[in-house]
Amino acid sequence: MNIRPYSPPKQYLGVIPVLRYADLRMIRRTLQIAALALLSVAFPRMASSEISADQLPDFGDSSGALISPVQEQELGEAFMRSVRSQAKLVADPHINRYISQLGARLVAASDTPNYPFTFFVVDDPSINAFAGPGGRIGVHTGLLLAAENESELAGVIAHEIAHVTQRHLLRAYESARQLSLPTAAATIAAILLGAATGSADAGIAAASAVQAGSIQHQLNFTRANEKEADRIGIQTLARADIDPYGMPAFFERLYQTTRLYGSASIPEFLSTHPVTTDRIAESSERAQQYGSGKQRDSLEFELAKMRLAALSSRNPASLLRALDLARGPARRYGFALASWRTGDRARARRELEALRRQDPDRILYRTTLTDLLMDEGEVSRALELLSDTMRLYPGDPVVGQYYAEALLLAGKAGQAREVILDLLKDEHARTEAIYKLWARATSIAGPAWETRFASAELYYMKGNLHLAIDQLEQALRLKGVKDYDQARIRARLHDFKSLLAQRVKRE
Ligand SMILES: [Zn+2]
Repeated sequence: MNIRPYSPPKQYLGVIPVLRYADLRMIRRTLQIAALALLSVAFPRMASSEISADQLPDFGDSSGALISPVQEQELGEAFMRSVRSQAKLVADPHINRYISQLGARLVAASDTPNYPFTFFVVDDPSINAFAGPGGRIGVHTGLLLAAENESELAGVIAHEIAHVTQRHLLRAYESARQLSLPTAAATIAAILLGAATGSADAGIAAASAVQAGSIQHQLNFTRANEKEADRIGIQTLARADIDPYGMPAFFERLYQTTRLYGSASIPEFLSTHPVTTDRIAESSERAQQYGSGKQRDSLEFELAKMRLAALSSRNPASLLRALDLARGPARRYGFALASWRTGDRARARRELEALRRQDPDRILYRTTLTDLLMDEGEVSRALELLSDTMRLYPGDPVVGQYYAEALLLAGKAGQAREVILDLLKDEHARTEAIYKLWARATSIAGPAWETRFASAELYYMKGNLHLAIDQLEQALRLKGVKDYDQARIRARLHDFKSLLAQRVKRE
């Protein structure tokens, strides 16, 4: 995991965050990687879901002939598996949920509100976001931390959504068609992820240099593409009732950074999306047509950014000093987390309980408090609060995940398994985190085949088909597996084997 090359306190105190970028690059070059428990494991909240053909909108134009909606979704799912194996994704369910909800709000205001987008957060301090196949949109943690308000973050996401809705990736798909699905997906993932780290080469090894180069070339959008994505993105922002000026304002800040620090400090977003004064002027003008000043303070944005900053801060003590309790709930929340990280659990608890009195039903406060209670060994109080929260939000995947984790810690694996089996009925809850919890719970309190089955799903999500198949074959060899369960295992085994055959055949 990357050391965050930013200084969180200054970042969200609003002290010209872009100025931090230059030091970030330097620190990043020299520092080693340190893992932070809460962010270290790659578990995106929104799993790519299995989508059937009839749910997919057909773009229906002549270019649509290049790749069918079903093929595009297959490529998107394979892309996500590659992303999970190549990058560190943010595991925190609250941060993932925030990005997914903001993304969904923008998609609803876009020209293709029914297109199945998926949003995920890459644990990378560079300021970047990217659009992958099948509407898979990645947002770097560096972007979330550098955005001064929700409209700036939304501006970049709306721009990426527009690249998808305007079919700007089609040329890249065309270049990728000569490759097998897994190789194409791995290559696109390596290029999009590696744009920030310069480490693309390793991931592209599967494709030849020429093929990779050709895809790379097609993934670099043209200036016309960029202007169109700005135009459509600004329209989306306005329709979503978000200040459209957020987009030009953010571009302007990034642009000023490069002017101050030279090309060595160019944020990744600019190296893939060149911003010129021309482009800033044009997007400003366009934003003005919609009128600005609609931006309201978004507590959700502030809390998500604060949580990310507090959990990833390398210096929670200085963060603590920088936060002023008097200025609203997000700062108070950051203060609580930073207190906890510096070892002052009593103060963290006082702050969290005060926040909860003001806003008693907020899932973030409730689950943070239960985490703290567990940390203090008050497992039964934590379980009490979580089961009350489950009653308030039945079927909520974030609450369910916390509840299952707490039950497991309390030695109630059977109950944890029931909660997880219930969550798995909702395809949006099928994340790596849930599969991992399922494997743990069922290894203690479930049938042996189910543990293998859960492990197989985990391997599959990470793109390791061989290990996934191996787990299912082991499950089939077990004695006493009911016919119904055997059929389920066989069906999944068939899925995985067909995918593998496709990979072998076409490579
Ligand atoms: Zn762009």
